[in-house]
Amino acid sequence: GSILHWPAAAARDKLLGGLLADGLDEGSCHSRYQAAMYRRNAGREPSAHLVSKLRRHEDLQRRCGPGTAAYSNAVESLRSGKSGGIGSPECRFLVSMSYRGLGNRILAAASAFLYAMLTDRVLLVDPSNEMDELFCEPFPGTTWLLPPGFPLTNYTSFSVDTAESYGNMLKNKVIRTDAGDVPTAQLPAFAYVHLDHTSTVEDKFFFCDEEQRVIRNIPWLVMRTDSYIVPGLFLVTGFQEELDLLFPETDTVFHHLGRYLFHPTNHVWGLVTRYYDAYLATAQQRVGIQVRVFGRQPESPKLLEQITTCTQKENLLPEVIAAGEAAVVPSSPHGRKSKAVLVTSLKSWYYEKLKTMYWEHATATGEAVSVHQPSHEEYQHFGARSHDTKAWAEIYLLSLTDMLVTSGWSTFGYVAQGLGGLTPWVMHKPANESGVADPPCCRDVSMEPCFHAPPFYDCRLKQGADTGKIVPHVQHCDDVPWGLKLV
Ligand code: GDP
Repeated sequence: GSILHWPAAAARDKLLGGLLADGLDEGSCHSRYQAAMYRRNAGREPSAHLVSKLRRHEDLQRRCGPGTAAYSNAVESLRSGKSGGIGSPECRFLVSMSYRGLGNRILAAASAFLYAMLTDRVLLVDPSNEMDELFCEPFPGTTWLLPPGFPLTNYTSFSVDTAESYGNMLKNKVIRTDAGDVPTAQLPAFAYVHLDHTSTVEDKFFFCDEEQRVIRNIPWLVMRTDSYIVPGLFLVTGFQEELDLLFPETDTVFHHLGRYLFHPTNHVWGLVTRYYDAYLATAQQRVGIQVRVFGRQPESPKLLEQITTCTQKENLLPEVIAAGEAAVVPSSPHGRKSKAVLVTSLKSWYYEKLKTMYWEHATATGEAVSVHQPSHEEYQHFGARSHDTKAWAEIYLLSLTDMLVTSGWSTFGYVAQGLGGLTPWVMHKPANESGVADPPCCRDVSMEPCFHAPPFYDCRLKQGADTGKIVPHVQHCDDVPWGLKLV
């Protein structure tokens, strides 16, 4: 594509400051190498410690991953229910389930990856829901997809009631943490870690040091989460030193992990680049607006007003002037400043209204504003292939904008802001259905995603606590008040 519109891009480190390993076949995944040229915002630099940890982790994935003797042995041990057994002791595994919307799946995989790095486990991602078709392989020389033939055949139906969940094993005293170190031979061959929005207090003991010491020695973990559990990992004292070294800037965790892990496959990359080149590349500034419409919400003039007042008040988009007022005329048509607005939404109504507004009225600044929306799928489909492909392309396109407005609560927006390195302006839902949100949007405190289902427990005091007040960089989110985010 016509990607080199700006000379600095040519020199920009396509491996993102060493974040990405060299040596992968460029043709198999163009986005991995071309993304840096599409990003005007180069993003933050990864720490040297993160870069070297990633290389060591890639080694682990290759040494123990599918296709190796270590992997076959570990699968055999799991099949026979042994914990110590013949499995190679240096290889332990984490299977991350992929369910719910694309944003949820991306946040879950990123969270699982960080946990895998912190605990030296091989990450294997459940390939359901197109995880295999949307993303390139992130690790050179191996696969991150859980191969067919996994012995826990029913793992995708594990739920809060599964007897082998860590929480239930604690509750039923199958595992005890009060009797000192548990001999490895007495540990189960696997534990299911249930961390979605239905998880119990016991499930959330996962975020305690005592539990982590036991879990550490269980060879296989299967994790279900639909959330960004990373702020919870920052509450575990035993992880803090390593996390400080990996992420001296705590607000960049998803930014780096996301850019490391999630590269659109060539088909999706085609959707991204064709759209970008055709509609967004030539504008002087790009403004992304993510309008998340939940369920059967009707078209809402109030939400439209929220979008226009937010973007105008925050100087993201110009105001329009009334018909008949004198418009600003540039000295030549080429001297006109231009802004391209990328709207993503399941509905087309908001886009139509914005586009009409900037066509029928002149802007107060004389800027030319073009408005674009790649798709309008009308409602949320589950497990529909082309639907997810478009969703991924749109998340990615939002991440290529210069300024981003998101809808609170939405993991779709979280992923875009993190990949783009953009601290968004967030539109909150009005306090009551009939009300107007005031202010229409607020600048977020960081680009990190919000953890929607955090623990409310102080592991050291062994009592309920406000987990937004335990460590300085873990605070409550603006959009989901009980949620936690890194700042
Ligand atoms: P969340 O529900 O907002 O947290 O985001 P998710 O990505 O987890 O789930 C919403 C799903 O609805 C997405 O994965 C898409 O499949 C679909 N969806 C929501 N908004 C959009 C949009 O603006 N564009 C497209 N193409 N799909 C969307």
